[in-house]
Order: sequence, then C-alpha cells, then structure tokens
Amino acid sequence: AAMRHLPYFCRGEVVKGFGRGSKELGIPTANFSEQVVESFPSDISTGIYYGWACVGNGDVHKMVLSVGWNPFYKNIKKSVETHIIHTFKEDFYGEILSIVIIGYIRPEKNFDSLEALISAIQEDIEEAKRQLDLPEHLKLKEDNFFHLPESKIVNNH
Ligand code: ADP
Ligand code: MG
Repeated sequence: AAMRHLPYFCRGEVVKGFGRGSKELGIPTANFSEQVVESFPSDISTGIYYGWACVGNGDVHKMVLSVGWNPFYKNIKKSVETHIIHTFKEDFYGEILSIVIIGYIRPEKNFDSLEALISAIQEDIEEAKRQLDLPEHLKLKEDNFFHLPESKIVNNH
C-alpha cells in the first residue's frame, strides 16, 4: 500500500498546521489543506516518504513528507506535511505547494524523547538526500509538472 500509488503528483495550498512546534525543532512542515488530503488515495500508508517539492513557481527542492493522523480531527483524518530541504527567507502560508512523492522511508513511530525524534528525522533527511541523487529519481525533478502551472496549460492548449 505504500508504493502502489508512487510516484504521486499533488498540488495544493499551504495552510496553518496544529502548532506542534515543528519550526521550533528546526524542521518546519508545510501542511496541505484538508481538501488536498481528502483527494489522496485512501489506502496510502502512513509514514515518512521522500520526493521533490516546489513553492509557487520557485525552484524544485528535495523534501521529506509525513503522512500521519490528524490530531485536529481526533485522528480519523490524515494529515500530509512536507519538510522542504531548503532554507527559505520567509514563510509561505497560502502559497501553492507542488510535490511528487517518490519513495517510502519508514512507518510512523513513537519516540521516547524529543532528541530521539529529531535524530530520526535527521536520518530521514539524509536518506531522502541519498535516494534523490539517484538518476532515476533526479529525472522527476525536471518533470513538466513543476514547470507548467495548470493555468498555463489551459491557456496554451
Ligand atoms: P504549522 O503547524 O503551521 O504547519 P510549522 O512549525 O510546521 O507550523 O511551520 C510550517 C511553515 O513554515 C510552513 O507552512 C511554511 O510557511 C514555513 N516554512 C519555512 N521553511 C520551510 C521548509 N523548509 N519546509 C516547510 N515549511 C517551511
Ligand atoms: Mg506543519
């Protein structure tokens, strides 16, 4: 169930999350709106994935993504959160985030301490960086999905 839908292309607005303090940990996660999450394959596995991401018409960067349970909806709805492996000058709430999810890293886990959580995420980030340097994964960085916004496709064709 983790791999069947991959690669998975997805675009949507970045909304406010639940203030779990991801940014304070140095690992901000851009949350997709509920509408985007609803459109996800319902049987996609929770856990950590890697892929490519782009904010607005900006550059395409490596990312790690978590598919988890949304505490705001008593954990009956999923949440999808993207940590882009890049330092941004400003927040980008309200902007359109485009992602392609390429591979699965691991299932969700509970951690005994904040330190254990942070070091697991750092390992996820290193794994994502290694995977995304592989030629077959680099290819998707150049995909038209990131270069042709939907509005342009409508106007030019
Ligand atoms: P929230 O609970 O609102 O999602 P976070 O602490 O997870 O708050 O921070 C997420 C926000 O940080 C994103 O919506 C985005 O505007 C901003 N941000 C800045 N840099 C990044 C990054 N590298 N990856 C993801 N989001 C980032
Ligand atoms: Mg977040």
